[in-house]
Amino acid sequence: MVLEPIRLFFSRIPADPQFGPFVNRVKARTARGTFSLPINLLTINQFFGENFTPEAARRFVESIGDQSITDPVTFEDQALRFLGRELYENFFHGYTKKQWGVEPSALPASILQRLPVRFSYDDNYYNQTYQGIPLDGYTAIVERILDHPDVSVHVGETFKPASAQEYDHVYWSGPMDSYFDFRKGRLQYRSLRFERMDGHGDEQGNAVINYCEEHVPYTRVAEHKHFAPWESHADTVLFREYSSLAGDDDIPYYPLRLTDDKAMLREYVELAEAQREVTFIGRLGTYRYLDMHVVIAESLALAADVITHGIDETRAFSVRPLPSESVGDRISTSP
Ligand SMILES: Cc1cc2nc3c(=O)[nH]c(=O)nc-3n(C[C@H](O)[C@H](O)[C@H](O)COP(=O)(O)OP(=O)(O)OC[C@H]3O[C@@H](n4cnc5c(N)ncnc54)[C@H](O)[C@@H]3O)c2cc1C
Repeated sequence: MVLEPIRLFFSRIPADPQFGPFVNRVKARTARGTFSLPINLLTINQFFGENFTPEAARRFVESIGDQSITDPVTFEDQALRFLGRELYENFFHGYTKKQWGVEPSALPASILQRLPVRFSYDDNYYNQTYQGIPLDGYTAIVERILDHPDVSVHVGETFKPASAQEYDHVYWSGPMDSYFDFRKGRLQYRSLRFERMDGHGDEQGNAVINYCEEHVPYTRVAEHKHFAPWESHADTVLFREYSSLAGDDDIPYYPLRLTDDKAMLREYVELAEAQREVTFIGRLGTYRYLDMHVVIAESLALAADVITHGIDETRAFSVRPLPSESVGDRISTSP
């Protein structure tokens, strides 16, 4: 019986992995200096040399926004309308271009729906209520989940869709287009190259610094010891991230979801919905940019659905990948 192992599987997840108190406070290196990100009251006051209150800052940002743009069509129009040229050019133009490989004037306005600015001194990168890093790391959590006699792990092997018939059901977390052997074409992804740097002491002073200038070839640098501030290490490891369009042999990281991709995605969704033996899950399987907690929540909901209704009722998607989600939520932030 298939359902019992699923129940057992979920009973193995530790109810309370211990989390250490990490809060992501990203900094942005711009042509005018280093500032706090997302743009907040401190950023605005330091960038413009002012001492605004929240309300005064709101009025000021409104006043520098380009009000002549009444019907923004592109991301650039929208950003200029919300933020004005100085903030846009220093914080968004170069970074967006490097991260997505597209001129911001070629991206649709719809992807910047919210004003990417806070009128308070809150510099927490995330809006979530809880934030932390597991004290034993993520590997330990995953090891405990997988440590069960009914779970077998095959590393270094590629699962071939042709063998799907051998199983009761397949949950596919690989790229949706690769499941169908790219028969409708290749969906576009951004890939990353990581450059490791080793050093001593504290080289950067922060977990993440974004590099907003277009001429700096990397998008951001992470110094990993700062993700675990309760630990102490004499040495340090940093990674620079370089973004590029994923070639056929690169690891796909971020779905692009530009207009052509969305048209192709529709065709793949139709193909997927014609299958009975597979459910497409996660970031690559549904071609959406998703943070971890979203993927985990969707997977738990799917598992609960399978436990309640059985595998025969499982659909190709628990969350249909169309139509609206896009690179947008990621534009105002870093990935
Ligand atoms: C640089 C970067 C930074 C990020 N930072 C954050 C962050 O700070 N916070 C956050 O919440 N999220 C972050 N994310 C997003 C997070 O990584 C994803 O939400 C999460 O990994 C998605 O989980 P998933 O299981 O859907 O996909 P993945 O983690 O990509 O897992 C899919 C797995 O399927 C495997 N696979 C694919 N095809 C096959 C095949 N044919 N056979 C066998 N195996 C296959 C792949 O190798 C991969 O291991 C970040 C992502 C990136 C790229």
